[in-house]
Amino acid sequence: MRLSQYYVPTLREDPAEAEVISHKLLLRAGMIRKLTSGMYSFLPHGFRSLNKISNIVRREMDRAGCQEVLLPLVQPADLWRETGRWDLYGRELLRMKDRHQRDYCLGPTHEEVITDLVRDEIRSYRQLPVNLYQIQTKFRDEIRPRFGLMRCREFIMKDGYSFDRDEKENEESYRIMQQAYESLFSGLGLSFRAVEADTGPIGGSQSHEFMVLADTGEDSLVVCSGCGYAANLEKAEVPSPQSGNTEAECPQPELVQTPGMHTVADVAAYLEVPRNRILKTLLYKSDGSSVAAIVPGDRELNETKLANLLGAAELEMADAEAVQNWSGAEVGYSGPLGLAVDRVLADHSLLEGTDWICGANQTDAHYRHIHLDRDAAVELYADLATVGEEDVCPKCRTAISFQKGIEVGHVFKLGTKYSSAMNATYLDAEGRERHILMGCYGIGVTRLLAAAIEQNHDENGPFFPPSIAPFEVELLNLGPQEEDLSATAESLRSAVLETGADVLLDDRVERPGVKFKDADLLGSPLQVILGKKGYDQGVAEAKDRKSGERTTLSLTDFYREFAAWRSRVWQQTWRLGN
Ligand code: ATP
Ligand code: MG
Repeated sequence: MRLSQYYVPTLREDPAEAEVISHKLLLRAGMIRKLTSGMYSFLPHGFRSLNKISNIVRREMDRAGCQEVLLPLVQPADLWRETGRWDLYGRELLRMKDRHQRDYCLGPTHEEVITDLVRDEIRSYRQLPVNLYQIQTKFRDEIRPRFGLMRCREFIMKDGYSFDRDEKENEESYRIMQQAYESLFSGLGLSFRAVEADTGPIGGSQSHEFMVLADTGEDSLVVCSGCGYAANLEKAEVPSPQSGNTEAECPQPELVQTPGMHTVADVAAYLEVPRNRILKTLLYKSDGSSVAAIVPGDRELNETKLANLLGAAELEMADAEAVQNWSGAEVGYSGPLGLAVDRVLADHSLLEGTDWICGANQTDAHYRHIHLDRDAAVELYADLATVGEEDVCPKCRTAISFQKGIEVGHVFKLGTKYSSAMNATYLDAEGRERHILMGCYGIGVTRLLAAAIEQNHDENGPFFPPSIAPFEVELLNLGPQEEDLSATAESLRSAVLETGADVLLDDRVERPGVKFKDADLLGSPLQVILGKKGYDQGVAEAKDRKSGERTTLSLTDFYREFAAWRSRVWQQTWRLGN
């Protein structure tokens, strides 16, 4: 491609609408344009990269023995009713009706459709195992689409599904996919980590997420350096207390006035007690019922853990009106004594200790000397808090640390969740009917593009891993009006193509400064610069965009020297084979 003919509308300035760097650079480099909230068009420069990512994903899935299919985007509600997810999936599911008033949705994921496909065809154990995948558009009506390609409403996903005969085979399929993901993300040149994960509305018994490590990631990861435990903060466990002493002595509750003290910090300061002596009582609406969740005042409630415990599809913090109705007080004075809610749950750390302070369900008042078991109707103690810096590893109890990551892949062991709901069975060797065991495996293809930029950029632009760059090489002709330079640029271009790399030739009549700036913005990891001075000396300059290292390549021996430099950059800078 020649830049003079390339449809790549770049922007000089950061667009105001973009908050994160990948979003800014995708717009500035003319890769994507926004259509409406959470929906983007791909321009040639963006689509080239996206296609490369898809092809690498495809190659890796095929290598792992998976077979590609393409399922419809629009799905009939009847299938979703069979699994109960028509009601459970919540508002991310975009529902609609056809001209006959039949219900449909846009597929946010495809478990129902694929299970339907397979149950109609698979009869015998001889047809299993099988693993099918697709690379396709998904639609999720996200509550807060943002950060460009990171969290869209319409996006491209690779979703794969395995079908197995028994637990052992199911386990093996899961392991094969984990390995395929490891090899895929390494092959893309990204630094990543696999972590234990929450299963969300997909469900199942076990799941891991693959996180591209970047400070700007939306996900927090808890990592143990001792035993290698790594989990998404949503999922990471707080070890259960080692002893319980709820039997300990505790005086009778006493009402104390706490005027204007709404927060744990206010009350702690006012009553001169540490924050961990105070019970934080949080009120939620959960699928139409009211719930109180209690955690120590110095801890955060983990809403994912709470939603899982409740089996809730929708969990929403109670608004001021609901708080008033259920507690009889303003926000900030709720407590477990005499609260009019359906369920009261407490964090398991509260099994250790007694004599707490809590809201009195009266504005401007708290209770002292609360003994949870004696004074409140706690239905269940469970792991409800978010892991904090002070916590230790739940497996080996050594110190933990935190990292930020972007979730680019997610694998789930589903067991018979979908096959039993939808009656997908096979006949085993003894002629007995059995439910097929399933797994499902997603990769955010469009999000990967954003993640690659979040991990690899500087103030001048992105530097794409060579395997997924729109063009691996940009060739800058600094003398486009000089015949001999232009002829040489053309022959260098052919030589680069011959090595198997793709190349964008900047043949525009522009100042060198403009060309350098644009080359950095367009993101090729390898730049070859042909200027008058070098030409006279018989060399072109080569710049490794990521490391910043420069070298010269002889014009007379260009093919060989370029090929050698190219493999050095792949191996040394990107730790990739080519
Ligand atoms: P998240 O927690 O980020 O909302 P998820 O866990 O709901 O994602 P999965 O159902 O596991 O997502 O989907 C598989 C993959 O699809 C994710 O790992 C992610 O890379 C990608 N993905 C999910 N939602 C979006 C989205 N709204 N925009 C872009 N990519 C997405
Ligand atoms: Mg996920």
